[in-house]
Amino acid sequence: MGYDEFYRQSVEEPERFWGEQARLIHWEVPPQQILDASKLPFRRWFVGGTTNLCYNAVDRHLADRAEQLALVAISTETGRTDEVTYRELHREVNRFAAVLKSLGVGKGDRVVIYMPNMAEAVYAMLACARIGAIHSVVFGGFASHNLALRIDDAEPKLLICADAGMRGGKVIPYKPLVDAALAEAKAPPPHVLIVSRGLDKDMRRVEGRDLDYATLRDQFMDAEVPVTWLESNEPSYLLYTSGTTGKPKGIQRDVGGYAVAMAMSTRMVFDIGPGQVMFSTSDVGWAVGHSYNVYGPLIVGATSLLYEGLPTNPDPGIWWRLCEQYKVRTMFSSPTGIRVLKKQDASWLKCADLSSLKWLFLAGEPLDEPTAHWITEGLGVPVIDNYWQTETGWPALTLMPGLELKPVKWGSPGLPAPGYRMKVINEVTGQEAAPGEKGVLVIEPPLPPGCLTTVWRDDQRYIASYFSHFKELLYSSLDWAIRDADGYTNILGRTDDVINVAGHRLGTREIEESVATHSAVAEAAVVGVKDELKGQVPVVFATLKQGVTATSEDAARGMQQAVTEQLGAVARPARIYVVNALPKTRSGKLLRRSLQALAQDTDPGDLSTLDDPNALEEVRKALQRGPDLGS
Ligand code: AMP
Repeated sequence: MGYDEFYRQSVEEPERFWGEQARLIHWEVPPQQILDASKLPFRRWFVGGTTNLCYNAVDRHLADRAEQLALVAISTETGRTDEVTYRELHREVNRFAAVLKSLGVGKGDRVVIYMPNMAEAVYAMLACARIGAIHSVVFGGFASHNLALRIDDAEPKLLICADAGMRGGKVIPYKPLVDAALAEAKAPPPHVLIVSRGLDKDMRRVEGRDLDYATLRDQFMDAEVPVTWLESNEPSYLLYTSGTTGKPKGIQRDVGGYAVAMAMSTRMVFDIGPGQVMFSTSDVGWAVGHSYNVYGPLIVGATSLLYEGLPTNPDPGIWWRLCEQYKVRTMFSSPTGIRVLKKQDASWLKCADLSSLKWLFLAGEPLDEPTAHWITEGLGVPVIDNYWQTETGWPALTLMPGLELKPVKWGSPGLPAPGYRMKVINEVTGQEAAPGEKGVLVIEPPLPPGCLTTVWRDDQRYIASYFSHFKELLYSSLDWAIRDADGYTNILGRTDDVINVAGHRLGTREIEESVATHSAVAEAAVVGVKDELKGQVPVVFATLKQGVTATSEDAARGMQQAVTEQLGAVARPARIYVVNALPKTRSGKLLRRSLQALAQDTDPGDLSTLDDPNALEEVRKALQRGPDLGS
């Protein structure tokens, strides 16, 4: 069957289609109903079926592929490589699950995981899944305030962290950030479980609260922890993501729908089946890491490569040598990762035998044409741009070489994935946009399996954030898009205040709040400004309180430090401008879009609602003068 027929069936006969796909996974009790769409925008897939993500990812493969590699965790930072077979993975996950149980963690309890790309992060996630605990992995690049916000929302029973991460040869201690987050959090968990790699020699431990994983693991070397079977719609994990407010949303995923979406998409989109090797360069803390470093490849019985390190260390050939060494079939990275390599000599792309490599998938941010051309020519394999969101959990727009490779069109992430009934809607009329006309990309509910089921403990926020933008009940992606006559869609950027820095999604409001914690700051506006390497970077415009004696440069330095300490280096402003006034509407709303346009030297748009024209002049002058910090 080709793509067209596969897709048609998925949207026209969803119950038959997904009923068939459901056979790709193990059900302890088969589903009684494939789809319950009686309470849209909520929907339940595979109602009454019971299953378990860990069982499907690990136990199920013991019969046929116990000695095959399941996970290869490579760190070019620590120099360590863990090659883990399915048998060993099963053992480690059982040990980890036993430790979790000994700490009183059980079904429905939340566990926050704050670790870099290391094998134990995968064990921890799978151990949670095994016992029905709900994991919430927080990206290691986030700092204490971000961590505290997530802790307070998830109210975890346990926090698992590494002693430290490493970047570019530098140790980044995690534990002080955890301590600061727990001091700030209103709902700190009673215990912190530390997986130490011996990187932070001065690590401070809080007596009674902080526990050492290695010591506890020793007590459970032979433990067998039975799988907890979960109804398909029970929560499996939370993944927090930024939106327009300062408070991140807990994207909630189910069990059965997610497992089926992973089993189908890993095969049909990423062309990976049992015994084949997939290398995703994502961090486990992102949606891609969850789906295609952990659950997808393991559910299909493949080998997953997990990488901690820079793409250029020890040299820019490292990814390709790993492809050769492990016979990688499908590689998955981000446009920023490739742009980093593009700054290096193109000959590095030829340093290894890439005969096993079939596809390079890139996602997370727009893929610019020069980068797409450079890497396609350099590698000589098709490069497949795919579009998705933390919310969808797997590609919504893509080509599907595992099924049929439709032609690649530069600049477009392709066609809707199975089950996604996508439209482009004119924002003003609410009507479907004509081919070539810009509009908002939406999905007609029910959302396919694998997509979010709700926002953690906040059904109203799920509706308000995603389904309240149009008269018709439609999921808004909050992305502008344009579709051509063949159905290929191009993504034109966010409709909200979310920015995308090196493929990392950040809320400008979160950064503004952080800047404003600096004692000199009266008010701050943050916008995303185009950047050749990272796609976008955060740029701050701030006014200072009256009577502040610090120089603009010192104040700007303090703001940058506040952001780095509270949110992490990913959110660090690239430039800071101290100004006397910020442009606002008469009703007091910040004109972020105009600010962004001025900073990018484009048309600031409709200024009829501007309250004080001098404020805009101020910004123009500041831009001419140059930033108080950054360049
Ligand atoms: P995240 O939730 O962090 O995965 O970010 C999702 C957002 O990243 C989307 O709403 C888009 O704005 C952007 N994005 C993801 N993939 C692509 C892509 N292939 N092309 C353009 N933008 C993308």
